[in-house]
Amino acid sequence: MGLVTGSRTGCFDGAWGRRVGREHRSNDTVVVGAVEIGAGGVTVIAGLCAVETREQLMATAHAVRDGGADVLRGDAYKPRTSPYSFQGLGKQGLEILAEAREITGLPFVAEVLDPREVDLVASYADILRIGTRNMSNHALLREVGRQPKPVLLKRGRAATVSEWVDAAEYVYREGNEAIVLVERGVRSFDDSVRNLLDLTAVPLVKTLTHLPVMVDPSHASGRSDLVVPLARAAVAVGADGLLIDVHLDPGSALVDGAQALLPSQFEELMREVGSVAKAVGRA
Ligand code: PEP
Ligand code: MN
Repeated sequence: MGLVTGSRTGCFDGAWGRRVGREHRSNDTVVVGAVEIGAGGVTVIAGLCAVETREQLMATAHAVRDGGADVLRGDAYKPRTSPYSFQGLGKQGLEILAEAREITGLPFVAEVLDPREVDLVASYADILRIGTRNMSNHALLREVGRQPKPVLLKRGRAATVSEWVDAAEYVYREGNEAIVLVERGVRSFDDSVRNLLDLTAVPLVKTLTHLPVMVDPSHASGRSDLVVPLARAAVAVGADGLLIDVHLDPGSALVDGAQALLPSQFEELMREVGSVAKAVGRA
């Protein structure tokens, strides 16, 4: 295929000419790593927004594993709006996550913020995550494209679907085809909730690309009481998996406590999502 210089029409034309596009590959891509994503089941990633202490991460890892999660989440590097907010434990956080994997058997996903830290995060984490603020950080996208660990690519909070697809193309064309798109809500005129969860994007990007798509109802809504209904809807609309914030004491969380589920609420989510998955013929 020749050099693709941009969109064909100058306006929305999906994934035309892109290697992540359906015309390049008609079969769905199944991302294979520590877990399979996109093989027909619903992959559940759950845990902390940020690793704050070893004890808290260990307890959370056990709780989400017992609740049925496939993958643990917990960030060592946090992209914070204010430079004075907690920025994460850094390498020490990665070491705690690796210890939790050792003890619970759960693989983990962690965010990477900086191209200079890709090798370090990839040497610990099973899956890398690019957050909403970095979806257009092309140096970072290229760097995660040059290493083999699967990449969760969150949609930028002001990104169109075609910009999101092009961000995936930046990773893919470097050689890493293990990409999972994550819809996490976009900013809207309505500030009633943290973001506007764009569930239309889930079946839409599945028609445009061959990549799996997950949904993060925690960051989309910012409210724990909305997470379960949005998770049900995400599975019904075809999401390949969910990212769920869980915390043993959400009131004391340094980051994103208002959207975190208690372990008992996570168990309820797994039951409800299980019923929906069955109803729509999913595993
Ligand atoms: C997160 O998952 O903790 C996170 C920072 O998400 P987002 O990039 O979608 O805001
Ligand atoms: Mn968060």
